[in-house]
Amino acid sequence: MELRALKGTKDIFGDEMRKWLQVEEIIRGLCDDFGFNQIRTPMFEYTDLFARGVGDTTDIVNKEMYSFVDKGENRITLKPESTAAVVRAFLEHNMYADTQPTKLYYISPTFRYERPQAGRQRQFHQFGVEMFGSESPTADAEIISIGHTLLKRLGIKKVELHINSLGCPDCRKRYNETLKAFLEEKKEHLCPLCQERMEKNPLRVLDCKNPECQAHLQNAPTVLETLDEECTNHFNQVQELLKAMDIPFVVDAGIVRGLDYYTRTVFEFVSNDIGAQGTVCGGGRYDKLVDEIGGKQVPAVGFGAGMERLILVRDAENNAPLEPATRDIFIGYRGDAAMMEAFKLVNSLRQVGISAEIDHLQRSIKAQMKYANKINSRYSMIIGESELEERSVRLKEMESGNEVTIPLDQFVQVFKNMLDV
Ligand code: ATP
Ligand code: MG
Repeated sequence: MELRALKGTKDIFGDEMRKWLQVEEIIRGLCDDFGFNQIRTPMFEYTDLFARGVGDTTDIVNKEMYSFVDKGENRITLKPESTAAVVRAFLEHNMYADTQPTKLYYISPTFRYERPQAGRQRQFHQFGVEMFGSESPTADAEIISIGHTLLKRLGIKKVELHINSLGCPDCRKRYNETLKAFLEEKKEHLCPLCQERMEKNPLRVLDCKNPECQAHLQNAPTVLETLDEECTNHFNQVQELLKAMDIPFVVDAGIVRGLDYYTRTVFEFVSNDIGAQGTVCGGGRYDKLVDEIGGKQVPAVGFGAGMERLILVRDAENNAPLEPATRDIFIGYRGDAAMMEAFKLVNSLRQVGISAEIDHLQRSIKAQMKYANKINSRYSMIIGESELEERSVRLKEMESGNEVTIPLDQFVQVFKNMLDV
């Protein structure tokens, strides 16, 4: 059998890997500026955590989880999202007892059994942020601002921010009743799944991707019409804060998000550049989730962004061409004695932070120079018998062809000064 990577998974290497590292560096800088600390939770958790945390009427829990029983008879699931795991860690380590808010971020592999297509994989990666301990609209606005700033720093322009409010559980309950009454009349036109959703969780119907269902939802009552005064004020303040930060947005009653745990603010950053899988980032407030998982009333707000989709959108807008990878210097050699000297020198240069390369394939001198070109080395030199005898080398700048003579025994210091490292 020919061994291949599993369907819906990808190896990341070469230029693609370099893009990822760039994006991850931007994310780390961003989270520093916003005061979020990184957290790494395990790749798998008890299945119960997600069943409880994500919600058992969601597609994720119903259809998409990678679940198995391990040798100790534990029911385990590869994480299909990270919020539930972060909440579990927040509770397990009593982070609520620290000065609040607690601000955390992660970049994590995420696993969902889905039909793979562009921007949709079975193992993908999410960058996410979570802020615990504040009910204030400023927390919602700060989280949205991180998403906005990220896209700006990635040079992504053609993305729209859609926001909505689902209200508190009371509003939600009222709305579910209104919505259910509306859906009853359309029942026969809805897909079988929506007919089922209608009973268990009518809100989920609005999230259906079936165009037929969507067509019949055109005049559905919106959740915004049923918000109570407190929830309305909260949502208005979030909007005022976004305006104050010059963050453009549209209020979109169709944003209900795929997960059960959201309350009040929900939002998505959507691109039209990468087809159907256009949501690059989605999140919102989840004031009941911590209680659901661990019996503590702690309000929270956060988002998850798909790394693959961020990179796809960035590429589609083509605004961050990759600079070719370069090396500072290639040191060629002829003969065993020179090899010894070249190898020692390359190592010394690396110790002081200079990227130096040597031949590992017994190439001829000509082939070594070709290799130096191929790896985009800025400088090169060759050590042979005469260089060893005279203890001096000719350093060549590859682009100009200019050469200078440098005493071999002072090479590291001189070259370091030249590069100004
Ligand atoms: P979708 O509606 O596209 O299935 P979702 O609502 O399931 O998205 P979330 O659970 O909110 O997505 O996850 C947050 C982000 O993670 C999404 O906005 C998207 O960018 C990314 N994402 C979700 N599922 C996948 C996947 N299978 N492959 C790649 N990225 C994904
Ligand atoms: Mg999904």
